This record gives sequence, C-alpha cells and structure tokens, in this order.
Amino acid sequence: MDTTFSLSDESATLKLGQQLAVQLRAGGVLYLQGDLGAGKTTLSRGIIQSLGHSGAVKSPTYTLVEPYELPGLRVFHFDLYRLADPEELEFIGIRDYFDPGTVCIIEWPDRGGDMIPPPDLVLRLEKQGNGRLASLVANSAAGQTMLGRLTK
Ligand code: ADP
Ligand code: MG
Repeated sequence: MDTTFSLSDESATLKLGQQLAVQLRAGGVLYLQGDLGAGKTTLSRGIIQSLGHSGAVKSPTYTLVEPYELPGLRVFHFDLYRLADPEELEFIGIRDYFDPGTVCIIEWPDRGGDMIPPPDLVLRLEKQGNGRLASLVANSAAGQTMLGRLTK
C-alpha cells in the first residue's frame, strides 16, 4: 500500500491533519519526523484545530509541551527539539500525559528516549519541490487501522 501523500502547499498539510484528527479522536500517539521547517507544527495545527481547538496553535519549542483540553478529549503537543536529557521529561509530569484516551503529537520524538510511549503512527515530512512529501508508517494495530482509513 502506498502511504505517501504529496502536499503541494500549506493547505494540503492542514487537510492531511484534518484526516488524521478523525482517526486520532479515540486517542493515539503520533510521531512527527522531519527537519526544521518541514511542516510538523503546521500539521499539528491541522490536527488540533480539527479536534475542536479554535485558537492559535503555538510551537511548544520552549515549553516542550502544550496541553489542549477539548470537549471530551485531552491533546498534548510536544516539541522535544530543545530537550537536552530525556530525564527532564520526568519534571513536567510526563507519565500523566499518556493515558490511553489522550492524543499525543510528538515533534522530534527521537530526543525523548525511553520516556515517551511507542507511536501508533510515524509520519515523516520532507521537502518535495515547493511542497512537501509525507510518508506514513503504522507501528501498532490501531495505527494500521488509522492508516488504512486515510484517503488521498
Ligand atoms: P516544523 O514544525 O517542521 O519546523 P513548520 O510547521 O513550522 O515546520 O513549517 C514551516 C513552513 O512550512 C511554514 O511556513 C509552513 O507554511 C510551510 N509549509 C507547511 N506545509 C507546506 C507544504 N505542503 N508546502 C509548502 N510549504 C508548507
Ligand atoms: Mg515545529
């Protein structure tokens, strides 16, 4: 199955976020990989706003995590780029964040070491011409189901 998406502009990234939001609604862990400027925070914004958040979505680069309390749903958006040591995550009470019903979107997951849970889905963004290419891989049975429900 081809699990790549050509995203010609920012609105295409937001639309993929919308589709992912539908699949993540019951909870799940999404890793976002790709260089600075690849579009990870843009995609996160697409997901979080589709889940019902009407305000801005800030990049949590300096805070490590931005929580969103939405009707019937808790969403945590992580950016671990500036994390020096995975142990630092202990101080922000990270273990409370990963209840099964929550949505966790994690930029720079490699920096979290063993402190973060395994993903249901891994999405990599890279530049492709003036746009972006998104490649998705499932890493759990739930992730496999989510992946199968995305449409181009
Ligand atoms: P990251 O979080 O990966 O560092 P950002 O989400 O901050 O990246 O995005 C960097 C830039 O990429 C933003 O200006 C955004 O508008 C742009 N962008 C996002 N998706 C696309 C796309 N599919 N095509 C072109 N530009 C995009
Ligand atoms: Mg970012």
